[in-house]
Amino acid sequence: MSLQNPVFIPGPTNIPEEIRKACDMPTLDHRSPSFARMFKPAVAGVRRVLNLSEGEIIILPSTGTGGWEAAITNTLSAGDTVLAARFGMFSHRWIDMCQRHGLNVQVIETPWGNGAPLAEIEAALRADTDRKIKAVLATHNETATGVKSDIGGIRNALNAADHPALFFVDGVSSIGSMPFDMEGWGVDIAVAGSQKGFMLTAGLAILGVSPKALNAMEKATLPRTFFDFRDMLKSYAAGGYPYTPAVGLIAGLAKSIEMLEEEGLENVYARHHRFAEATRRAIAGWGMRPCAATPDLYSDTVTAVVVPEGCNGTDLVQLAASKYGMAFGVGLGEVAGKVFRIGHLGMLTDAMLLSGLAVAEMCMADLGWKVPLGSGVAAAQEYLRNSGTDTLAAAA
Ligand SMILES: *Cc1c(COP(=O)(O)O)cnc(C)c1O
Repeated sequence: MSLQNPVFIPGPTNIPEEIRKACDMPTLDHRSPSFARMFKPAVAGVRRVLNLSEGEIIILPSTGTGGWEAAITNTLSAGDTVLAARFGMFSHRWIDMCQRHGLNVQVIETPWGNGAPLAEIEAALRADTDRKIKAVLATHNETATGVKSDIGGIRNALNAADHPALFFVDGVSSIGSMPFDMEGWGVDIAVAGSQKGFMLTAGLAILGVSPKALNAMEKATLPRTFFDFRDMLKSYAAGGYPYTPAVGLIAGLAKSIEMLEEEGLENVYARHHRFAEATRRAIAGWGMRPCAATPDLYSDTVTAVVVPEGCNGTDLVQLAASKYGMAFGVGLGEVAGKVFRIGHLGMLTDAMLLSGLAVAEMCMADLGWKVPLGSGVAAAQEYLRNSGTDTLAAAA
């Protein structure tokens, strides 16, 4: 039996029925014109979601992590220096990947709960008078702590330092759910995955690549074969792939973008902001706080809830799964046990969100935490009923 409870992990997210149906299709020859007909709208749609008019969209059969690897190996060479801040598990994993590829990573250690430190990034760029730094890496939305970083601010830091480094952004848990302006922010490679804002299963790495990054690709010498953009672009020109594409997922991606645009991207972003705010109202009602240090850092897609002293966030996640069949995210790395995470991205309605908050609250009571039933749920209910309409429910 499959439970129809929504999931509240910060990816993979709930899959709309229309998208599941779009993915479920008979075998199609990926070298035929029918594949090209399906592929084109998916690529054009990703361009609009990223806001990228020039450059290329690359869609790999992989996941977000493969997208990072593709970004690095296609543009850099062994020994190159890259600049990155570490403030959570995902920013950490990107740094680790660069190191394993033989890159020299200049790491700015930043407390978990904070975002990309703009002043320190600018100082590091200004200090790099020999222009050793070839790329700046940023995690737009740190999924481990629920922290959003100021990507436009990092572009300003690059400009202020008049630094020519490439600018790569991990938007795996933000793209499609939070405003993303690849061109406006001067991002050279943006990385997304299929299983978060795009509401699909995992299986696609989705990248936007600027003309500047394409230029760097010609000189880069890190080894790559499966992820080689050059092979991909050559095959794209002929309407296909250098290998077998994930045809069903690409059909689902086209459907996903159609649904996002039907709702209206602005409405999608507003809906995510509203759910994040409702979640924070509930957390305040419980007498808790988000892990994100200040309100400007609050993520609209995931909230890491700091649990009270003496409580363990992982206990709540385990109980929610075993007793109520509902999935929340555990704390990772430095914040393991200290937080639990509520993913509020992708297909969610007011009713779905409230079910998650209510179950979290029941778990707290079950665990003997001093949280009165209703304290968080009522605060979220009060906010939701007074803050505009549920755009998904209204459209159905
Ligand atoms: C989920 C996630 C990833 C990893 O993506 P996979 O698709 O699991 O490889 C990377 N970065 C961020 C910010 C994420 O949320």
